[in-house]
Amino acid sequence: VRVANLQGRLVLIEGDTAVDVAEASGGRFPSDPQAVFAEWDAFRDWASSVDPGRGEPFAVEALGPPVPRPAQVFAIGVNYAAHASEAGYPPDSTPVTFTKFPSCLAGPVCEVELPSSTVDWEVEMVVAVSRETSRVRREDAWGHVAGITLGQDLSERTSQLAGARPQFSLAKSHANFGPTGPWLVTPDEFADPSDLAISCSLDGETVQSARTSSMIYDVPELLVRLSRVCRLFPGDLIFTGTPSGVGNARSPKRFLRPGEVLVSELEGVGRLTQRFAAQGFAAQGDGT
Ligand code: ZN
Repeated sequence: VRVANLQGRLVLIEGDTAVDVAEASGGRFPSDPQAVFAEWDAFRDWASSVDPGRGEPFAVEALGPPVPRPAQVFAIGVNYAAHASEAGYPPDSTPVTFTKFPSCLAGPVCEVELPSSTVDWEVEMVVAVSRETSRVRREDAWGHVAGITLGQDLSERTSQLAGARPQFSLAKSHANFGPTGPWLVTPDEFADPSDLAISCSLDGETVQSARTSSMIYDVPELLVRLSRVCRLFPGDLIFTGTPSGVGNARSPKRFLRPGEVLVSELEGVGRLTQRFAAQGFAAQGDGT
């Protein structure tokens, strides 16, 4: 099952068409893409058993974030050994947790204004929680995942890493700093949801390329550790960390510049496309 947010309405993705869930279910399920997580299991069972038929063609530019208003967004730092090494963390470092405030979430295709000249890319697999979760056991954890999507954890490095006053969460929460999508894919759609190719490219040059199987804490371990502290709610998001290849770790350092295009890809999910603009310029554009 693949679900998306088409102009604020929950849709099933069938091939290259979208089926409106509220209409196809006769109102049984909501049109709000966030509300469906309150009854995710019933929705998934319905969606995988009905033949919704062919829907309407749609433009990927019209998609919003598949999970638009999560109660909580957890983000994991230093979750790939090669990235820990390039970022200067000791080999025995454990992943860290912060948040991206939900207002930074955006759809799969968007323009992002650059608040400074030190904004960096971080391609990440993102998972959505399917049910209220406390102290989940590792062997049960995948059963608490509604689906997998793709995200960028865009990061303003100057404020994020400001010496004694680091601002991890704010630095990663500027407008449109959390593009996600293009859709949410249920785990059963993957031969192995723990081993997916993930990459991103900048103006056609590959800058990150890895497999999610090289995470230090895999998805079940993240759910175990997060739910040991926090109650997780249906429709919460977890950004699972980025592999190596970020611009801040390059020599010389490289950051996003106005006019550049970042394309991110996750095997079995799809692609995000972000174009960057100097702050203040986007509002004067062509209005699209
Ligand atoms: Zn990150």
